Amino acid sequence: MAVATGREYGLFINGEPVEAQSGEIRELSEPATGEPLARVAMAGEADVDRAVDAARAALDGPWGKTPPTERSRLLHALADAMVANRKELAELEVRNVGKAISSVKAELNQGVENFRFYASAIASIAERSNAIGGSLLFYSLKEPVGVVGQIVPWNYPLMMTTWKLAPALAAGCAVVLKPDSATPLTALRLGQLAAEVGFPPGAVNIVPGPGTSTGAYLVRHPGVDKIAFTGSTETGGEIMRLASGPIKRITLELGGKSPNLVFADANLDDAIPSSVWSIYYSAGQSCEARSRVLVERSIYDDFVSQFSRKTEQLKLGDPLDPETQVGSLISPEHRDKVHGFVERGREEGAEVVTGGEAGNGKGAFYRPTVLAKVESSMTVAQEEIFGPVVTVIPFDDEKDAIRIANVPGHSVRRLQAVGLRPRARSRDARALPRDQERSRLDEPEAVQSLRALSS
Ligand code: NAD
Repeated sequence: MAVATGREYGLFINGEPVEAQSGEIRELSEPATGEPLARVAMAGEADVDRAVDAARAALDGPWGKTPPTERSRLLHALADAMVANRKELAELEVRNVGKAISSVKAELNQGVENFRFYASAIASIAERSNAIGGSLLFYSLKEPVGVVGQIVPWNYPLMMTTWKLAPALAAGCAVVLKPDSATPLTALRLGQLAAEVGFPPGAVNIVPGPGTSTGAYLVRHPGVDKIAFTGSTETGGEIMRLASGPIKRITLELGGKSPNLVFADANLDDAIPSSVWSIYYSAGQSCEARSRVLVERSIYDDFVSQFSRKTEQLKLGDPLDPETQVGSLISPEHRDKVHGFVERGREEGAEVVTGGEAGNGKGAFYRPTVLAKVESSMTVAQEEIFGPVVTVIPFDDEKDAIRIANVPGHSVRRLQAVGLRPRARSRDARALPRDQERSRLDEPEAVQSLRALSS
C-alpha cells in the first residue's frame, strides 16, 4: 500500500485525531528527496493540558479498571496490528526519516517484539503475600505510576515509541507521548492503531511539538507523574532540572560515543564487517553507534585500509530501495552539522581516508566517512557526531585501550565498551581485564536497555 503524500495529520488525543488549539501546523518534507510529505498539527500548552486530562480520565475510568490479563491481550493485539500494517508503517517511517528500508524493517520487527515482550511480562507478574507469623500478613500490590509523559527523538521514531508505550501500557499507566516535531507520523499512526484494537480513549495520546516549549511544558506539568525521555545528553540534563519541582520520577536514555576495541589478534574478517555495520547502520544516527574504533597500533594501517575499502562498498541512496544500506540523514541542516565535524577533524589533524562530503542528489545524503590518525583529545573523538563518520584511534596495549575507551567526557555510555565482541573472537583469548575494569566493560547494551526500560 502506498502512503499518500501531502496528508494532513492532527494530534491524537482521547482516542481520536483532533486539531491543535495552538493552530500551529508544520510542513514536513522527505529528507531523501526534499519533496513535500505531510502537514502536521503541533501541540501547544493547551493541547498538552487536554491530553493530560484525557490520560487522567482514562486512569480514573475504564483504563484504570482494565486488569493485567486484558492489558496483555490489548498489547498483543497492537503487535498484530503493527504486523498487519507493516508496509504502510515502514514506508511512512522511511519517507519521514530518510533511513534505509532495510533498517526500518528490522526496527519495525523489534517494535512488534517490544509489545509482545511486555504483553507476556505483565500477564505473569504476580503480587505477593508473606505470612510472617502470629497474626501478621505482609503483602505487596503493584500499581501503575499514573500519567506518564514520554519524549522520543527523531532517529528511531517508531521503535522508540514502542519502547516507551509498551512497558507503560503493560503496567497500566496512561501515556502522553511527544514525538520529535520532525518525525511524528508513525507515532500518530500507532496511536490510531491502539484505539482501533480497543485501548480505551485517553490511554494513549500523541502530541508532536517543539521540545523547548511543548516538551518542557509536558515535563513540568503537575498532572504528569513520571517522565520517560530518550534524546541527547544535554536535553537529558535539562529534563532532570525541569522534573525537579515538584520532583518526578524520570527515566533517561541519552547520547553516546561508544568504542569498539580491536586487538592485533582479532579475526579481521569478522571484526571489520561488524565494526562497519555498527557505525553505518541507520547512517550513524544511533545512540549506540560505535563511532570510535580503537585499533592496536601494530595492525592500525592494515585495519584502516581494509575498513575503508569495505566502507566504500556500502550502497548509499534511495532509502526505499531494498538494496540500499545507507539512506539519507534527517535533514540538510543535520548533514551540514555532520560535515562541520569532519572539517573540524581535518583542522585538528585527522586524515579523511574516504567520504568527507555530501552524497549526490537533492536529499540530505552524506558519504560514509573514515577519519584516521585520530587522537582521543580531538573534537571528533569527543563529541557525538551522529552521522556516518567513524574515528579510528590507535592504542598500544590493553591498558591503553581501556583508558582511551573510558576517556572522561565519553561518560554517557562508556559502560558498554562493546569491543569485547571482536576481542572475544580473537585467536588468542588473553585474560580479561582486572575485575574492576571488567565490571565496567562487560555489560552488553541490551542488558542496560532492558534495565532502563524496566525501571
Ligand atoms: P534532543 O535531545 O534534541 O531531542 C529529543 C526529544 O526531546 C525531542 O522530542 C525534542 O523535541 C525533545 N526536547 C528537546 N528539548 C527539550 C526540552 N527542553 N524539554 C523537553 N523536551 C525537549 O535529541 P535528538 O537530537 O532529537 O536525538 C538524538 C539524541 O538522542 C542523540 O544524542 C542520541 O544518542 C540520543 N538517543 C539515545 C537513545 C538511547 O536509547 N540512549 C536512543 C536514541 C537516541
